[in-house]
Order: sequence, then structure tokens, then C-alpha cells
Amino acid sequence: YQVPNWSGGWFRVSDKGQVEVTPTPGLHAPLRAIVDEIVDRGESLPVILRFPQVISGRVKHLNEAFGKAIAEYGYTSHYQGVFPIKVNQRRVVVESIAAAGYDYAHGLEAGSKAELALCLAQRMHPDALLCCNGFKDDGFIKLALWGRTLGKNVVITIEKYSELDRILKQAKALGVRPAIGVRFKLHARGSGQWEESGGDQAKFGLNAYELLRVVERLKEEDMLDSLVMLHTHIGSQITDIRRVKVAVREATQTYAGLIAAGAQLKYLNVGGGLGVDYDGSKTTFYASMNYTVQEYAADVVYTVQETCKAREVPEPVIVSESGRALTAHHAVLILPVVDVTGPTRDLEDLAPADENSHQIIKDMEDILANITARNYRESYNDAVGDKQTLHNLFDLGYVTLQDRARGEALFNAILRKVAKLIQNEKYVPDELEDLQKVLADKYICNFSLFQSLPDNWAIQALFPIVPLDRLNEKPTRQATLVDITCDSDGKIEKFIDLRDVKATLPLHEPGDKPYYLGVFLMGAYQDVLGSAHNLFGKVSEAHVTLRPGGRFHIDLFVRGQKARRMIESMGYEEPMLRDSIEDQADAAIKNGILTNEQEHELLEDYGEELLGYTYLEYEN
Ligand code: PLP
Repeated sequence: YQVPNWSGGWFRVSDKGQVEVTPTPGLHAPLRAIVDEIVDRGESLPVILRFPQVISGRVKHLNEAFGKAIAEYGYTSHYQGVFPIKVNQRRVVVESIAAAGYDYAHGLEAGSKAELALCLAQRMHPDALLCCNGFKDDGFIKLALWGRTLGKNVVITIEKYSELDRILKQAKALGVRPAIGVRFKLHARGSGQWEESGGDQAKFGLNAYELLRVVERLKEEDMLDSLVMLHTHIGSQITDIRRVKVAVREATQTYAGLIAAGAQLKYLNVGGGLGVDYDGSKTTFYASMNYTVQEYAADVVYTVQETCKAREVPEPVIVSESGRALTAHHAVLILPVVDVTGPTRDLEDLAPADENSHQIIKDMEDILANITARNYRESYNDAVGDKQTLHNLFDLGYVTLQDRARGEALFNAILRKVAKLIQNEKYVPDELEDLQKVLADKYICNFSLFQSLPDNWAIQALFPIVPLDRLNEKPTRQATLVDITCDSDGKIEKFIDLRDVKATLPLHEPGDKPYYLGVFLMGAYQDVLGSAHNLFGKVSEAHVTLRPGGRFHIDLFVRGQKARRMIESMGYEEPMLRDSIEDQADAAIKNGILTNEQEHELLEDYGEELLGYTYLEYEN
């Protein structure tokens, strides 16, 4: 499962074969024990475990990495990060970052009016930045300006040229001097899945001509000192450090150009993009990154400094808007495995062919009995042909349902035997490449992919998935995962691997005790982008802090959304639903189908479900 490669030290496997969270040296607890306590309290799964201490640790790690690079290079200014709250607006996330970031004057970034309203209410260091990105109307701008009157270091970033006039108008009307940032479209691009966020065709930002027009316009208004920040962003999850350096150099050259044009910028904002190594491969693969947080900080500081020295301009305060890298590690989605199905299960005990069996069944038995390392390819192709014939004969009424069942079981047995023969082969024929996946079990997990891991569905994002315990026991099954939505897309069929992407995940045979899988590194973007497919609602969450001595404390348990809330979000009202059921039950009583006691019970059950969790609930 590669735990040491992707965990960054925040998780580890104990001697007892359990995954433990380890937010700081000396603090550790097995995730299984936390889940067991939640279940013992009578709460239902799935659940997201959130570890605020991991968030604090990430904030510290990033700030100290920049602090170290700044000291090492003798950089004359400092670093001040901002957290873009769109990455995860959860209260525990934003408050943990604001608290851990206070001493570093780590700020926030809002991309909408609602996000700004939320950010303004946070307690922040007076120097901490509150960057306002995204397209803006007058209301957004006014709120940002009021923020300055509250003593907050609010910077309004111009994303398109026309926003400048709006800002100037509102600032005059309110009598507040604005602090303005300007987003520049770098020609440099990121690498990986968000490459389109950068480059000339990017959705946000001004080109060089518009940038100079901003300077001229502010000069005319005698407000050039209001222009305090140059902002750039080349996309999230930048996998290749060389792309970072190229972009930062271009950004710093632009900064120097603005200084030469008379601007007195204080901040150079290099945007987000600091990656997360989801598969632990440390490569430029889209789910990885070929650099560390420390290397990122060092390269940003060095590149800014080198360019500033060459252009003889003051070294600016370096700002980054890292979101993914601060939040991904803190959350683990716990998936209970509720059932297992698969082509190599259940059908094993079918009786052998007898004199009444169709000839095709006898042929398939022959194939199975005679497969060898020399003829497996031919046997496989014969079996595929026989299965096709079996189905044709069944459609025409020449093969019984019993023979069809026996034939399909034989086919699976042949595949299994072939898979065994090729497992150590270097060369696998094309037609057999998918065999592992075809033969894999389907582990049915109590969750909705669309609610909890939307990026896996939408953009094939990979997340490490690991059983919470039994890790000192060799897994005996190969599996894919399916969720409980009625959507065949609700499945996970790609898993992390150091060299490739794997089609199956090795798992244990679930025993008498519940079997839980943890989905790691899912704390960025996932639970805010999730959708209510099939009316599966927000998952319950537990906020857990660790105590010395291997102990932990569940500070807060927030129950997931109830069925009623999901139904109401679609425009229905609860009394209307209850009345409809009652009317139908009354009619059923009149027709003699239902008794009065049964009606009472029915209405009670209906009401209970409305108040229940939307996921499967089993008695423990
Ligand atoms: N800043 C801006 C302008 C963004 O659009 C984004 C997201 O793409 C971020 C910051 C956060 O990026 P990341 O989560 O990769 O750090």
C-alpha cells in the first residue's frame, strides 16, 4: 500500500499491522480504534476522520520551509502564505489554519462574496493578507473595502480590466483607500491536469498591455501606491518543479517591469499549485510531484531573489496560495465493506456435468482440465468462443439455465487458471491484459463516490486506499471497489502504484469483524465538490485530537445529512410527504389491505427513515 511513500510521515503502519495517524512525533493512534469508538457510541458509518493537528502541522511545515529558504539565501523580505478557502471551507479546516497560521501571519483567500463574508469573520494576524480573487460585482468590492476599515489587510485582485473602474468607484463612494492586486496571465504553464489554468488562453488575468493600462490609470488617479500585489497562478497540482521555476521567473520579471513603470508593489503572489504526492512515486505523473515542500520553497525564494538582483529591484514579500498541500493530509474517509461479489466466488460448488448436460459444457470441462503453460492462450480463446456459443444456444432455448450457470462458472475457473499461469510472465498477450480486473472481486463499500470522492469520478484522481488493520496479514483477494449509488460509474478501478496505475487492490477476505478501508489524502477539494447523487448526503465527520500515550479524543462528532434534508433540498416539504403517505395508508385500510396498527407502524418507520442517515445502516 506504499504508506511510507505517500504519507509524508503523517500516517504509519504499526507493528500490530494497523494504520496509525502520527500528527507530531510522540503522538499516535490507530485509526481502527477511533472508528471502533465511533461505532460503540452508536453512530453510523461512513465517516470522515479529520485531524486538526495534521492541518496545523502542514501550516507549520510550509511556513518553516519558506523561513529556512529565506534564512539560507539571505533573502531580505519574508514569506506570507494565504489559504484559498475554496479548497475546503469547513469550519474546522479554516479555523485550524487561521489559528496555526497566526504567528506566521498566514492569511486567507476568498473567491466569492460568500467566502469573503466567511473570511472577514476570522481572527487573523493584523498583517495577514485577505486576498479577494475571482470575478467581482459592486457588492463583493464593497464588502472587501469594509474589510479594510476593520483593520484587515484586504487586497482586491483584478481578474479582468473592467474591475478596476468598479473598485475605484466604490472606493471613492465609501472613502476607503483600496489595496489592489492584479492577476497576470503568464505565458508559462503548469504541468499535469490543471495545465489550462495558465498560458495565454487562461480564464483569469490581464495581459501585458492591460497590466500597463492599470498602472497608467492608477497614476492618473494619483493612486499608484494602491497597487500592492502582482498575482499569478499556473494551475493546481504542478507535478514538475521546473515548471514552477519557469513561472516564478516570468512572474518576477513582470514584477520588475511594473516597478520600472513606477509601481511600488509590496507582494509577489505565486499562486497555488504546490502538489501532493498521492501515489508516492515522486515523479511528474499526474498524481505525484518530483519535488518536496522544502525544495519548492527553496526554488521559489532563489528564483525571485536571482531575478530581483539581476533587475536591481527590491525583494518583495513572497505570497503563495497553497491549498491542496495544506489540507489533503488531514482527512481520511472510512469505508465499511458491506459485501463482496465476484466471478470467482459463490459458483464454485456447482455439480460437474452429467449425461444430460449439453456437449458445450463437456467441452469447457475439457479445456479446464487440460490448460498448461504452453497452451493457455489457445485455451483462453477456445473458452471465450465457447462462452459466446453457450449464450447463443441459451437464447435459442437449447441450453438450460442450469447448464448456463455451470458453463459460466467453468469459464471463470478457466480464467482463474490462466491468470495464475501468466502472473509471473513478462510478456502478457493483449487479450489477457484485463484479466486481473475481470477476475477481481467487487468490494461493495458503504459510500457514494459522487459525494465523497468526486475527483476520482470526474478526472480520475488517485487516492491511496488502505485497510485500517490486518496489514501484517497477506491479502488474498484482488478487488475493485463499488459504491452504493445506482450508477455504474460509482466504482474505483484505479489504484496507486509506484510504477503504474493498478487495476485492482489487494485486500483481505472480510472475516467476522467489520472490514474498513481508509481513503487517504482526500482533504482537499473532495468534500466541497461532492454532489447529492441518489440523495446520498454529506457524510458524518469526527474531529479527533491525539493525546500523549497513544490516546485520542473525539472533540466533535457531526452527524451526516438526514434523508429529510436531502429531500427538502429538492423542493419538497416534510409535512407534504407525511400527509401523502397517511392518505395512501387510510385508503389501504378502507380496502382492507392494512390494519390500524400496521398504519401506525408504517408511519413510524417512514418518519424514522426521514430522520435517518442516507447511507446503509446495519445493526452492529
Ligand atoms: N489560487 C488560485 C487562484 C487558484 O485558482 C487555486 C486553485 O486552483 C489555488 C490558489 C489553489 O491551488 P492549490 O490547491 O493547488 O494550492
